Amino acid sequence: MTVLAKTGQRGDGKPELSCILVEAGTPGFTARAMHGKMMWRSSNTAELYFEDCRVPKENLLGPRGNGFHQMMQTLDGGRLSIAAMGLGGAQGCFDRAVRYANEREQFGRPIATFQTNAFKLADMAMEIECARLLLYKACWLRDGDMAFSKEAAMAKLYCSEVMYRCANHAVQLHGGYGLMKEYDVERFYRDQKLLEIGEGTSEVQRIVIARHIGAKCL
Ligand SMILES: Cc1cc2nc3c(=O)[nH]c(=O)nc-3n(C[C@H](O)[C@H](O)[C@H](O)COP(=O)(O)OP(=O)(O)OC[C@H]3O[C@@H](n4cnc5c(N)ncnc54)[C@H](O)[C@@H]3O)c2cc1C
Repeated sequence: MTVLAKTGQRGDGKPELSCILVEAGTPGFTARAMHGKMMWRSSNTAELYFEDCRVPKENLLGPRGNGFHQMMQTLDGGRLSIAAMGLGGAQGCFDRAVRYANEREQFGRPIATFQTNAFKLADMAMEIECARLLLYKACWLRDGDMAFSKEAAMAKLYCSEVMYRCANHAVQLHGGYGLMKEYDVERFYRDQKLLEIGEGTSEVQRIVIARHIGAKCL
């Protein structure tokens, strides 16, 4: 585990934070599995407990007191991963929605021929394209060792919300079958929600972006 721990007090009164590696099996360290997630059930989630847990000095990751900075850097990269999950998920929703809307017939014709449904598909395609360009730009900045915090927050926020809208449309286009586990879109709908919460909630992304663009946001 990489643990962000309070290791002292800084001169300005704020806590000194450091990153520390804690190996599984270290006495005093326990992980209690959390069950009942609505999504991502194949991903292990646990509450971590540290009771009189001691590790050698060598387990300090980077300089002491640099933990906050390290975690922020990690988050920037992690946000690109979440954005990529959002983009891929949105694309998956779109692919299934187009296929189903062209196959499923009501009133003697495919439901994709009803303009209200075709427009949903058009909106999905447009937003996915925008999401892809935003994410690729953030990755391009990172690959070029340029600042990418703002773009990572934008990509994470936008891609996860695009997946939200695409999952919603995909379920709607599947009608009653959209709520059945027999079809993938039900799972896309549930899996999407974590993307708006993990690695900083959507509200936190908006705070990050607001500060980058010069807004005096607390
Ligand atoms: C499946 C899963 C896996 C996870 N894995 C990890 C992991 O590996 N490592 C890890 O460190 N964490 C992990 N988390 C925790 C996750 O990062 C947090 O749940 C997430 O950051 C939100 O924090 P919170 O739950 O404390 O919500 P809170 O901070 O209590 O937020 C509740 C609500 O208030 C809003 N809010 C809070 N502060 C502000 C503010 N200043 N301005 C405006 N709105 C605000 C939030 O946006 C949210 O809507 C995981 C969570 C889940 C569900």
